[in-house]
Amino acid sequence: MPTIGIFALQGDFREHNKVLGGLGMETVDVRTPGQLDGVDGLVIPGGESTTIGKLADRFGLVEPLRERIGSGMPVFGTCAGLIFLSSGVTGGEQQLLGVLDVVVQRNAFGRQNESFEAALDIEGLDEPFDAVFIRAPWVEKVGSGVDVLATVDDHPVMVRQGSVLGASFHPELTDDTRIHQKFVDMIEEGLEE
Ligand code: GLN
Repeated sequence: MPTIGIFALQGDFREHNKVLGGLGMETVDVRTPGQLDGVDGLVIPGGESTTIGKLADRFGLVEPLRERIGSGMPVFGTCAGLIFLSSGVTGGEQQLLGVLDVVVQRNAFGRQNESFEAALDIEGLDEPFDAVFIRAPWVEKVGSGVDVLATVDDHPVMVRQGSVLGASFHPELTDDTRIHQKFVDMIEEGLEE
């Protein structure tokens, strides 16, 4: 069985832990490069992407993360986690991993829509997913190797590039485990190869 790491320096990592635990997965909180070494896949939670970037830098995790993800470790970023994975943020400079070829716009849905729910059609899922958005980004530019899996008003909100999965909403805040299950499947497929 794979061990799934949850990036636990900031954000709602406990909720991801609960969902993955409920799916019978073994999870480990990741706060150090040593802990990262021992996992087969990693979730980067929602929170505040500038803080996540600063802490990752301070804890010496930026290069180890780039190396592991670059050599194929599956990673799933939600909301701030998606931002941290991206290669650029419109109109800003912050510590990013640059492992997902997208440019994102932070807090993209504006003040009126700071948080909302939407029944999302997601590629690969038969029924819509009730997605919770909280001060969410959307994807502004998508590189050629990136698949868009879901959109809101034509803006991509879920993307995949090989073993890198990103969602601008919070599947860990609902009871629907289909997206986490999809990520577990990605890890298990990688282990079988
Ligand atoms: N607005 C946050 C950011 O820009 C993301 C919000 C979230 O993760 N729910 O980092």
